[in-house]
Amino acid sequence: MDYLIDFSIEEANELLQQLLQNQEHFFFSEKELLKLSKQSIEPILQKTCLDIAKLMKCERVEIWLFNEEQTKLRLETSYDSRGTHPFSKATLLQHEVPAYFEAIVHKRTLAVDDVATDPVMHGLRESLSLEYHPFQSMLDASIVLNWGVGGVICCLSKQKRHWTPVHRHVLASVADMFAFIFDRLHRQETENYIYKLAFTDTLTGLNNEHAFYKKTEESLKTLSAEERGIFIYMTLDQFTNVQNVLGHDGGEEVVINFAQRLHSAFPKPSIIARIGFDHFVIYSPISLKNNQGAILSKEITNTLTEPMTILGQEVYMTFSYGMAYYPNHFDNVKDGLQVAQIALEHARKQTSRKAIGLYKPSMHTFIKESLLSEMNLQKGLDLKQFQLFYQPQVQCDTGQVKGFEALIRWQHPERGLISPIDFINLAESTGLIAHIGEWVIQEAVTQLKKWQAEGKDYLTVSINLSPAHFLNADLPDYLLKCTERAGIAPQSLVLEITENVAIEDRDAARNRMAELRAMGFSISIDDFGTGYSSFAYLQNLPVHQIKIDRQFIRNISTNQNSAAIVQTIVQLGKTLGLQVVAEGVETKAEWDILKQFGCGSIQGFYFSRPLPVSEINALFQKTALDYQLYLPLSLQV
Ligand code: C2E
Ligand code: MG
Ligand code: MG
Repeated sequence: MDYLIDFSIEEANELLQQLLQNQEHFFFSEKELLKLSKQSIEPILQKTCLDIAKLMKCERVEIWLFNEEQTKLRLETSYDSRGTHPFSKATLLQHEVPAYFEAIVHKRTLAVDDVATDPVMHGLRESLSLEYHPFQSMLDASIVLNWGVGGVICCLSKQKRHWTPVHRHVLASVADMFAFIFDRLHRQETENYIYKLAFTDTLTGLNNEHAFYKKTEESLKTLSAEERGIFIYMTLDQFTNVQNVLGHDGGEEVVINFAQRLHSAFPKPSIIARIGFDHFVIYSPISLKNNQGAILSKEITNTLTEPMTILGQEVYMTFSYGMAYYPNHFDNVKDGLQVAQIALEHARKQTSRKAIGLYKPSMHTFIKESLLSEMNLQKGLDLKQFQLFYQPQVQCDTGQVKGFEALIRWQHPERGLISPIDFINLAESTGLIAHIGEWVIQEAVTQLKKWQAEGKDYLTVSINLSPAHFLNADLPDYLLKCTERAGIAPQSLVLEITENVAIEDRDAARNRMAELRAMGFSISIDDFGTGYSSFAYLQNLPVHQIKIDRQFIRNISTNQNSAAIVQTIVQLGKTLGLQVVAEGVETKAEWDILKQFGCGSIQGFYFSRPLPVSEINALFQKTALDYQLYLPLSLQV
């Protein structure tokens, strides 16, 4: 038994003690966990490899990590008693060493006493070149992450060994510590990414509105007395026509292209953001000495209007803009955006193309009044011009309709069907939102009762509540009154609020959530990932559900990174005991991926657009089952 190397009790104790200390440091030190990054864990990994080499009496210890598909292992870090000695080939492919891959994916540990003869090693020595030759025995432990086996820790000994259960157990415990670290790292990277997304317009990579506010506020503070801040509100001319010709994808291409041009036309310290489909805002600090005047230079205009080639067609885009100066015309970012937009609207009254407007205070009242009279929301309410459309929410694994989201539309006599995006903000700023919200609650509850009375008593309806309405003192009583009168359980009404409600007025929002939850209503965080909140914050809120925003879903079938993010959100959501809903599912491929991730429910155009009640009822009538509906209909017999 000369190949069996044992430790003296003292030696083993000391090393195990060291290992335990290492682990304690990681499992319990908040500070270490907070500063985890790819760079900061490298020395930790190396140090631990060294400790394990001593503990196991091995000459070499390695950490290998899988790619997402578990088809490739990459050497992450190693310790070698000969000094830094990486193998010439630091990747292993599944098809080169199938037995080895099979073993580490399915076994907690893999002990190979004799590397030369063990069939599991078939191909491994060849793959890793001659440098493997001095090693005679190998012990591996799999690193099991949240989503499955993520890699392996591998000890190599020059002497033949007989690996005992003690060896296996120790190595497995180290592998678990690595798993803990890697899971934390992944979670942190995801949160950082979500945070970044909260400030980025995903279509163009420009700033989004939040980021614009934040960065511009900072920049305004640094302006000197010789400087002014210029705000430009810009939109593309006749963009709807362009979209009609080029379709939605073509429209997006145009916007992306234009954003790139803005990016080069307005270098730093200018700040550019996209705040609506084809709406951009630009902030630039300018010196009074070389006052560039109230119009953009010819050079910039030419750069922005050069023809673009979109989907093989040459497209000529022009743009219009309104301008305003800080501090002459406004004293904060919010007002700056508003007055620059007013300058634009005003100029657009003269011409619909290449309009240029410089803000004058006299424009203000004029525009506000005309907007209000055009969109007389109160009249819309009085004349019953609002309507709720319903979009099905289906159970992800089966496609069964479990409920609907109620989405408001305004059937305007002159302007046709108006989307909520175009009037909810106005309703909020004029204070009419609570009235509209109450109408929505009443209408949705009445409709839900009708469906439940027809035997579809399992259905739920989600409604969207504006921040101001959510915090309104009358809301809880009103909700209770409506549900009681209709005779539906509060549990079947889901209240959707956006993340920012929860952030802006934390205590009030938390109290309101707790109050509504105690009454039995369900609370859902809409557009999850687009605001500022993080999982750590959500943990403390009485929330039932998160709805992953459409922007995360749109790339999951083409971009692995997006898919990984969504997978993490789904997993973390579930860990917190939340229902997870994915919004904006447009293709079968996206559905399949979400199914694989174990997402709870989904909603999106792939299943159905938001529809008026009559069309939802028609869908129910088309199915063979009386009161159950599976979507998409094309997949049902
Ligand atoms: P939301 O609550 O996030 O609603 C989802 C929006 O995404 C809806 O737009 C819906 O039509 C759209 N959508 C659903 N599936 C897909 C898809 O597969 N692809 C794409 N591209 N879009 C999809 P909608 O109806 O225009 O509503 C926009 C926003 O207006 C809503 O966003 C919500 O924030 C707000 N809103 C709607 N109804 C109300 C309401 O009654 N009260 C309040 N306060 N806000 C409302
Ligand atoms: Mg919603
Ligand atoms: Mg949403």
